[in-house]
Formats: sequence, structure tokens, C-alpha cells
Amino acid sequence: MVISVLSGKGGTGKTTVVAALSEIAKKVIKVDCDVDAPNLYLFYKGTDIEKKNFYGGKKARINRSLCINCEICEEVCKFGAIKNCTIDLFSCEGCGACKVVCPQNAISLVEEKTADVFLTKTEKGIISRAMMGVGSDGSGKLVTYLRKNVKRFEDGKNITIIDGSPGIGCSVIASITETDVALIVTEPTKSGLDDLKRILELSERFETRVMICINKYDINSDMTAQIEAFAEDKKLFVAGKIPFDKKVMESVNTLKPITEFEDSSARKAIEEMWLRMNSYMVITKMQNNTNHNWRNVMMRVAVASDGSMVSGHFGHCEGFTLYDVDNVEVVNKSFVANPGHKPGYLPVFLKEQKANVIIAGGMGEAAQQLFIENGIEVVVGAQGIADDIVKQFIGGVLKSTGSVCTEHSHEGHCND
Ligand code: SF4
Ligand code: SF4
Repeated sequence: MVISVLSGKGGTGKTTVVAALSEIAKKVIKVDCDVDAPNLYLFYKGTDIEKKNFYGGKKARINRSLCINCEICEEVCKFGAIKNCTIDLFSCEGCGACKVVCPQNAISLVEEKTADVFLTKTEKGIISRAMMGVGSDGSGKLVTYLRKNVKRFEDGKNITIIDGSPGIGCSVIASITETDVALIVTEPTKSGLDDLKRILELSERFETRVMICINKYDINSDMTAQIEAFAEDKKLFVAGKIPFDKKVMESVNTLKPITEFEDSSARKAIEEMWLRMNSYMVITKMQNNTNHNWRNVMMRVAVASDGSMVSGHFGHCEGFTLYDVDNVEVVNKSFVANPGHKPGYLPVFLKEQKANVIIAGGMGEAAQQLFIENGIEVVVGAQGIADDIVKQFIGGVLKSTGSVCTEHSHEGHCND
């Protein structure tokens, strides 16, 4: 699963969000594709396990011993990169026109090193990153390389989080292609909304699923409302709103992810956002029946239970066994008693319990609809031991029958 975190411009808090999500999601491979300002690695102490030269393009070179100073090359160069038979390497685009016209075969195109590329091993996993040379270009190719360079570490259980370049240039295109979802971080300003629109246009071209995060949402409530209205109009999912929090500055100054600050309101908001992101991704998978491994995310699965068994009738169950699934493993299991029947209450109750999925034997049509409206995936028709059923769900082999409970003896409680 690949999540790309993007923003229309720099300074929106994108890297703060990436560092925090990487901490919360745990088994994460990080790719710092913000190659013009790579700073994600600063948040982590690590060891470089690989360092290579990256050659991003070619530049023209003149062999002075062959050159007769005819200046034909100067006339043909559309980039003004040749003056007095000397190449300005910053201006040369490596098009090769000068090489073609040179009567002396004095010009050659030489591979130019544009960056050092690293794989850095940290306690929190691998980071793929680069340091570009001053004045170097070819950042799109470099981003593509950084992404390919970590493929060997992907084992189907981890998540790859990309700290994308800001803007809409070729490095952003390289960041967004072949990602499962893009999280666009924006700020509540007019330029933030404009930037958001531009990057959305780009995402649409690549048919990338998009979620929105409004950072420092409380510094301008009018603009936040405008961004939310825009998102609603475009049917875009606002995954999270992060408040202004002085702890973020402390996090940046001390180079510690915001998740290390217990009393941070931004941290809390990002943690809640991650749960909503997971929920959205699971639901989207269900709706679109994509082949992506959407289950490879953290989520809470609620099973309507009678003892250790899946309850046949959701509204009448003894309670709900809650399974916290991190990637593909159950990391915690707890139980909450059924709080009782009130129309429309159980979907809200389970949303409060932070459930992303409800599994039951049978459930009324109205209840199924209410769960979906509350962002909770519904799987019905399950029978057997709850622990086994959850394993089947994680493994992607448990299919919902969609069957509606019409048992008269339950007086419609399965519709609650
Ligand atoms: S075209 Fe060739 S020979 Fe003429 S000035 Fe350029 S490098 Fe020299
Ligand atoms: S390779 Fe192209 S851009 Fe570079 S000097 Fe030659 S003509 Fe100019």
C-alpha cells in the first residue's frame, strides 16, 4: 500500500504529517521525494546502508583540442548555453543539437551526476532519500529512482509513505503515479485553496484517490469552511483537520515527530485522522472492489458476539468483540457489552468505539445503511468462532452475503 502525502506548495506542514503518520502506522517504508528540500530524515537517527551517485541527465562538453571556434554550436543552441565556445552547464539541457552540427566532432554528451542517493536504516524503518547537487535538474527521474530503490523492502505487510514534492511539477507527477491514495495537506488560506485545486486536477488526471487534510484549520475558520464546502461539492473526503499547536514548532526545532509530544493537540488530530484514513480506505475498497491490498492498514473490527461465537442477530448480540488489526495482525482484543436497543444507536455507538468494520451473522437493511453512512464497512452472513472469522476477514476470504435479517422474533432489533 502506497500513500503519497502532497501539498500545493512548501511550508504547509506536510513533513510533520508524514513523520507523524510514519510513527502511528509503524511498519512503514519512507520515501523522501521532496528532493529540493529533503528533511524527513532529520527526524530520525540512522545509518546510511547505501550511498550511490545518481546521474539525472547529460550535458554537452567541448573538446578544445578539436574545436576551431566556428561558433556554429552557439547559433544552434536554443538555451543560450554556449558562449565563446564554452558550455554553461547550468543552462545546458543536454538536447544534443550542438553535437549534431559541430563540423569537428568536438562535442560529446556526458552523463552528469545530479544527486547522491541514500538508503538510510533507522529504528523506525528504511528511508529512501537524496541530496541533489546545486543547480541540478531531473528531479522527476530522481523521484522515480527513490521509489524504485525501496521496492526490495516491500513485503506486503508494510506501508510505503511518500513525502512528495510540493507543487505540480514533474517530481510531483513521479510522486503520485502508482500510489493507492494521496493525502493532500492544505492550509486555510486563499492560496491554499487554489493550490489544492491545482493539485486535485493533477490527481484526477492520474485517477489517484484523494483525501484532504486541513492543517492549522482554526487560524481561519472562514477559509476552512470554504475548503470543506469545496470538498463536499467535489465529493472529496476530508480525512482530518489539525489545529494550530505550538508543539509543532517545538517538534520541528527538536527534530522529534509530533507523536512524541503527549499533550499535543496536533498529535491527537493526526491520530484521529489516521483512523479515518483507514476507515475510508477500507470502505473505498469495498465500494470499488479494487485489487489493491486495502486491508493492509490499521483498523478496528467489531464482531457482534454471543460468547466466543459470531452472533446470528446483530441487534440481540451480547456485545461486540473489538479486534485492533495493525497491518495483517490482530494486536489487541477487547469486548464491549451491547448497550441495548435504541433506533439508530448501535452504528453511532460503534463509531464512538472507533470501529471501521462490523461483522455479524444477520443485520437489518436500515442498520446496514446507517453503518455505511457512519463510515463503517458491514460484513454480514458470518458464522462460527469470532477469532476465526476475523482471521478470514483479514485474509480477504470472508465475503459479505449482504443478507438482511428479517427474523420476526427480534422485533426489528436487527434494524437498530
Ligand atoms: S561547432 Fe564545434 S568546432 Fe565549432 S565552435 Fe562549436 S565546438 Fe567548436
Ligand atoms: S546540448 Fe543542447 S542545450 Fe546543451 S549546449 Fe548543446 S545545444 Fe545547448
